Amino acid sequence: MQTIYPTSLTPEQYVAQQHQKQVPPPENCLNCGRAHSLEALAYYHRYVTWLTQVLIISVRRFLCRQCRVSISCLPSFAQPYRAINTATVEAGFNGQAQKREVQHWGTAIKDYWRRFEGHLPTLVRQVGSAFGRVSLRPRAEGFWRQLLERCGDLASATRQLIHQFHTCLFGTYRCHQRRPLQAA
Ligand SMILES: [Zn+2]
Repeated sequence: MQTIYPTSLTPEQYVAQQHQKQVPPPENCLNCGRAHSLEALAYYHRYVTWLTQVLIISVRRFLCRQCRVSISCLPSFAQPYRAINTATVEAGFNGQAQKREVQHWGTAIKDYWRRFEGHLPTLVRQVGSAFGRVSLRPRAEGFWRQLLERCGDLASATRQLIHQFHTCLFGTYRCHQRRPLQAA
């Protein structure tokens, strides 16, 4: 499973400080809920942008001794399965076209918006009115504004969507669902 690890570091700082080595295990397993059951389990590597660069980050993984499910801690500057970093996606969705990184990744950001629009009917069914009143025919623009007003930024919105609703802006993924618990 995947959780969002809140951090104020930029991707560049995270890489420079090898911050993955300091990511603590979540207190409780996200799958079975058991406390203090997570042990370190190496890393996986993925791409994330910073300004106009592409970096490779190491993402900390833990294994639950109780339910044997692995939990990866994705830093909040990264989006699940999307390379463009969270702040740049947010700036792009807010129409900040004067930003160099928004111009640079414009095509990808447009593609992300279309995915968001495509996922919206499912997303709205999953979250209901948790982020404000939803109309019968919700529009991506309106839902995006509500999400930002309620959560403050895309990083904390993503964290809430994953932790409370097991989805994110761009789709519902297996890594955000709980696994059936096996009888002990
Ligand atoms: Zn567990």
